[in-house]
Amino acid sequence: MNDIYYIIFFFILGTVMGSFYHVVGTRLSIDESIFKPKRSYCPMCGHTLKWYELIPLVSYLIQGGKCRKCKKQIPFQYFFVELFSGILYAVSFYSFGFTLDLVVALLLVSLFLIVVVSDFNYLMIPDEVTITIGLLITIINFFRLGFQGGLYAFGSGVLLFGVMFLLMELGNFLFKTESLGGGDIKLMFVVGLVLHPVLGLLVIFLSSFIALPVSLILYLYNKEKIIPFGPFILVSMLFLFFLKVDLNMVLSFLQML
Ligand SMILES: [Zn+2]
Repeated sequence: MNDIYYIIFFFILGTVMGSFYHVVGTRLSIDESIFKPKRSYCPMCGHTLKWYELIPLVSYLIQGGKCRKCKKQIPFQYFFVELFSGILYAVSFYSFGFTLDLVVALLLVSLFLIVVVSDFNYLMIPDEVTITIGLLITIINFFRLGFQGGLYAFGSGVLLFGVMFLLMELGNFLFKTESLGGGDIKLMFVVGLVLHPVLGLLVIFLSSFIALPVSLILYLYNKEKIIPFGPFILVSMLFLFFLKVDLNMVLSFLQML
């Protein structure tokens, strides 16, 4: 099968995009422009990177994870995001082939990785990214699902946005503290665009379920009280979207219990 060449191609494309996502997630969080022609630089000393220091994965491995100028350790997350991005791109192609679903999958992967960088490092989710990707998927949905399907998906997004908003209000009222951010609520709109509303509720449940042990670990290690929730919402969404879980599967699973 020459599918393997496509999978390798998508993996490499993913690693290149991965370093871009890292830049976007970082620069938008600290209000730096992503469009200004500013070259990539070492996060430790500011040294502008040469082309051979910019090869995804390879540069990091050859340099042993250290900057060539200041010799300081570059955070492992740079490598991790590139690698993870490559894997998710390859899996996207493997799952969907050359379809519109693939385009949607790659947009969801982009959103996920940018949010991982911005939410874990800066506890924020850049609105411009969520809105742009939400808008693109809304448009693609009309081609992918037909006119009625596109409208239905949009309604599902609005519905989940509303549900999450109410959950936030409830949380604020019960705990007298900000439990969810506005960024998390907007993410639920995107979730609704690609999943049935009932599956959207499952996403909320799954993400809380995954976030709990992680927040415990973060608390034990760093006394971190505020944990990012966005990445957990998106990882649960990707999980259901990639496995093509539909409502019938969930219902028959519930009947087994
Ligand atoms: Zn450096």
